[in-house]
Amino acid sequence: VNEFDLIHRLTQSLPANDSVVAGAGDDCAVLDLGIPGQFLLFKTDAVVEGIHFTRATPPEKIGRKALARALSDIAAMAGTPAAALVTLGLPQSFDPEFVAQIYAGLNALAARFGVAIVGGETTTNPGRIFLSISLLGTVKKGKQILRRGAQPADAIFVTGELGGSIAGKHLDFEPRLAEAQWLAEHFPIHAMLDLSDGLAGDLPHLLKAGGVGAEILKSALPVSRAAKMQARGQLPPAPHQPGASPKPAALAALTDGEDFELLFTVSGKVAVKLLDAWKQQFPQLKLTCIGKIVAGEGILIRDQTGAHKLGARGYEHFREP
Ligand SMILES: [Mg+2]
Repeated sequence: VNEFDLIHRLTQSLPANDSVVAGAGDDCAVLDLGIPGQFLLFKTDAVVEGIHFTRATPPEKIGRKALARALSDIAAMAGTPAAALVTLGLPQSFDPEFVAQIYAGLNALAARFGVAIVGGETTTNPGRIFLSISLLGTVKKGKQILRRGAQPADAIFVTGELGGSIAGKHLDFEPRLAEAQWLAEHFPIHAMLDLSDGLAGDLPHLLKAGGVGAEILKSALPVSRAAKMQARGQLPPAPHQPGASPKPAALAALTDGEDFELLFTVSGKVAVKLLDAWKQQFPQLKLTCIGKIVAGEGILIRDQTGAHKLGARGYEHFREP
């Protein structure tokens, strides 16, 4: 059973009530608890030793990453974060200074984004450290951006650069909160999510939610410097692929996880205007149109030899000399 099959099974018959605007299946839950003009956003996320960090990870970066992941999901709804609860699982023997440093990293990022840490829980967890964050946020009623809503002829944009996050970005990424709020304020964004499992892993969620397909231009992928260096063997690849030959950089941009960039779609008619306005507003952060939404389903990768369905065989077109 893979993770998505399990999630699908578990979310078949979840209890709901009148407050639920959007439940499981988006970046955050959206709730109407009667606050005038506002919806609540609600999110939980965890990082686990051996999966998202190691004992060698500086502890302040563990705390930072745990909160940044949840903030990225609030950003994906174009929301504003408000308050968090922290659950920390610790092996029987732990170094109190190590835990203090986890909190130092968490607190610093929370303060920077105006997030209150309002409580939590510490529990024993034999063997591994884990850190779970529950985060509340708000969004102006009707201004939330969901995963569904993409339409044929939409342009598909991503912020920043993709691939090679394991080289360091996965511990230091910036949640794109200001950028997402600006987008929602100024343009009719149709659909959005944050890239946690890689473009090839996450884009299908947006496509399925909208009942559409996508055509991605391979040469347009904003490949990160880290992914290029990994492809040349100048940086070590992800630790879970020991001995594997380096990934071609464009494939890394498509399949590596933990980029935490925004992916969104907007009518092709406003794409150029949006790009121009973005360059004025966020001159330091790249924004790239990587393709378009099409009728149908699945992902087509277009390169100089044509358009190829992205499936097991689709990846063959990334085997570069
Ligand atoms: Mg997400």
